[in-house]
Amino acid sequence: EGFWRLSKLGVVVHKDPGKDYLGICDALLEAIAKVLEFPVSTMLPAEPFTVVRKSFDARKLLKEPKFVYTVDMDVKKLLDLEPRTWDFISQLEPKVGLIEHMLQERDSGDLISVINNAKKNRNLQTKTKPKIAVVGSGPAGLFASLVLAELGADVTLIERGQAVERRGRDIGALVVRRILQKESNFCFGEGGAGTWSDGKLVTRIGRNSDSVMAVMKTLVHFGAPENILVDGKPHLGTDRLIPLLRNFRQHLQDLGVTIKFGTRVDDLLVENEQVVGVRVSDATNELHADSQNLRYDAVVLAVGHSARDVYEMLVPYNVRMVPKDFAVGLRVEHPQELINNIQYSALATEVRKGRGKVPVADYKVVKYVDNINNEEATKSRETSRSCYSFCMCPGGQVVLTSTNPSELCINGMSFSRRSSKWANAALVVTVTSKDFDTLNLHGPLAGVEFQREFERRAAAMGGGSFVVPGQTVEDFLNNKLSETSLPSSSYRLGVKAAKLHELFPTHVTEALQHAISMFERELPGFISRDGLLHGVETRTSSPIQISRDGDTYESVSLKGLYPIGEGAGYAGGIVSAAVDGLYAGFAVAQNLGLCEGGI
Ligand code: FAD
Repeated sequence: EGFWRLSKLGVVVHKDPGKDYLGICDALLEAIAKVLEFPVSTMLPAEPFTVVRKSFDARKLLKEPKFVYTVDMDVKKLLDLEPRTWDFISQLEPKVGLIEHMLQERDSGDLISVINNAKKNRNLQTKTKPKIAVVGSGPAGLFASLVLAELGADVTLIERGQAVERRGRDIGALVVRRILQKESNFCFGEGGAGTWSDGKLVTRIGRNSDSVMAVMKTLVHFGAPENILVDGKPHLGTDRLIPLLRNFRQHLQDLGVTIKFGTRVDDLLVENEQVVGVRVSDATNELHADSQNLRYDAVVLAVGHSARDVYEMLVPYNVRMVPKDFAVGLRVEHPQELINNIQYSALATEVRKGRGKVPVADYKVVKYVDNINNEEATKSRETSRSCYSFCMCPGGQVVLTSTNPSELCINGMSFSRRSSKWANAALVVTVTSKDFDTLNLHGPLAGVEFQREFERRAAAMGGGSFVVPGQTVEDFLNNKLSETSLPSSSYRLGVKAAKLHELFPTHVTEALQHAISMFERELPGFISRDGLLHGVETRTSSPIQISRDGDTYESVSLKGLYPIGEGAGYAGGIVSAAVDGLYAGFAVAQNLGLCEGGI
C-alpha cells in the first residue's frame, strides 16, 4: 500500500507532448519502466501514475535538453490493474534518489476544504467571535484573513490601495500619463506588491511542504490553472492574478469579511501596553482625510516593506525592530532572443514566443565576491558578499515601483504568456548594517534610509518624471557613460544615459562589476551592448524584522499586534508571504481562543 515517488525521469524534447501537457505520455511510461526495471513498458498502465512535478532541463552538459518528471505511483492501483505485476512489485526496493517510499497520504486539499473538514471531523465549535483587523491585502494579509474568517472570526481587511479594477486604471495612468497615485500603484492595492508582477510561485521554503501545497491549491480554487501544482517553475502572470484576486475577494465577502479599500492605517490605539485598535483615514483624499478610531481584539500587520510610514509609526511604541540584511543593485535587460540563444543554442528556435514546447529561457546566477580583493571568493563566505540575479522575468517588462515621486525604484512584471521581446532580472549585492554605518545611518530604520538614499540618487540621475538612469552592461564595466544611443528598453517612462557606476558606494559597484564578469563565464554573451542596466533595485526584501514570538506570532514588545509577511521580515515572495499569513491566521485564532477543542 501507499505511494512511491519516482523522480528524475527524463523525457527528451522531441518525444514529449510539450510544456503545457502535464499527464502521463508514452515516453514517460518508458522512463518509468526503466527505473522500475520493468521489462515491457507497454504493459504498464498509465492510471496508477500521477505527475507531481515537471521541469525543463537544458543544461549544456546534457546531450539533449529534456523535460524532467517526478511521478507518484499508487502501488495498490497498480496491483489492482495488473495482477501479473504482483510478484514484481513486491520485490521492488527503494533506489536512493530515484524511488522514495511515501508513507503518508499524498494529498492535502486547499485551505478552505482542509479547515472545513477539520471543523467537521473534529467537531470544532466557534466559541467566541473576536474582532480582528488585518492590515494589508497582499498574499500574507489575504491568507491570514481567509484562515481567520473560515474559523469564524469577525475580520476587517483594511487596504490603503484600491481594488484591482481601479488599481488597474491607476497603473495605466502612471504608465501612460506619468501620474503616480501615492496609494494605488505597483506596490499598494488589492493583492499587494505581487499583483502587477511576474507571478512567479517559486519558493525556497520547501516546494512540497503541506503549507506550500495548501497555498497552491487555494490559488487553484480561486482560478489559477492546475499546472501550477506540477510545474517546476510555476508562474501566473498579471493577467491571471487579477481575476484570481476578484474570486478571492468574493469568497472573503461571502464569509462576512468587511473589506475597506482606500483606507490607510495611520496609527495604533494602545491601552495598558496592548493594541486595542487602529486609527484610519481615507487614503483617497489627502486634503480632507478625516480620521476614525476602530477598535479590535487583535491587529495583524501585513503591510509589506514599501510601507515605510508604518515602520515610522511603530517607533514611538517601542515596538522591537531589528535591521536586516538585504540586497541592492540594478535591473538588467537583454533581448529575450539573446537569452534563449545563450541557454538553448540550437533549440532556441523552438521557443516561438511562449507558444512552442520549450519555455522561454530564464537564468539564475549567484557568485560570492571577496570583500577585500574583489575576486571570486572561494575560501570564506564570511568575508564575502553574495551577488546574484533575482526575480528574473523572462518575456517581461521593467516597471516603476516607486511609492513617492522623489524616490525611484524598479522591478519586473510579465503576463502569463511571457511573450514580450525582453528578459529582465535584478542584479544585486547583499548589504548589511556595516554598509549603513558608512553612510552614518544607525538604528532600526537605518536600512530604510539606505534604500531611500539610493532611490533619491536614481531619481536625480534620471532627471525627473520617472525617467530611469541607464547604462549598457559593457559601459558599466568600463566606468563609462554610454555615449551612443542606448539599446531599446521595455520600461515605458524613458531611460536616460547616466553614470550608474557612480550611484552606489564603490565597494557595491565593484562587487557588481566583478560578479557580472563572472556571470559571463556561465552565460556567454551576457556582457553585451544589448544588455541595458536600469537603476535602481532596492526593495528586494525587507530591511527590517519586527520581532515576534515564534509560536504565537505576537510582537515581543506590544501585545495584540501580529507582524507578518514580507514587511515584518518573515517572507520573501508571494508564496512564502502567503504561507506566513496562513500560519499567522492559525496562531492568532489559537491565541484568541477562537475554536473550542484547539486547531
Ligand atoms: P505586500 O504584497 O507588499 O502587501 C502589503 C499590502 O499592505 C499592500 O497592498 C499595501 O497597500 C498595504 N498597506 C501598507 N501599508 C498600509 C497601511 N498603513 N494601511 C493599509 N494598508 C496598507 N514575488 C514573487 O514571489 N514572485 C514574483 O514574480 C514577484 N514579482 C514581483 C514584481 C513586482 C513588481 C513587485 C513589486 C514584487 C514582486 N514580488 C514577487 C514580491 C512579492 O510581491 C512580495 O514578496 C509579496 O507581495 C509580499 O507579500 P506581503 O503580503 O507580505 O506584502
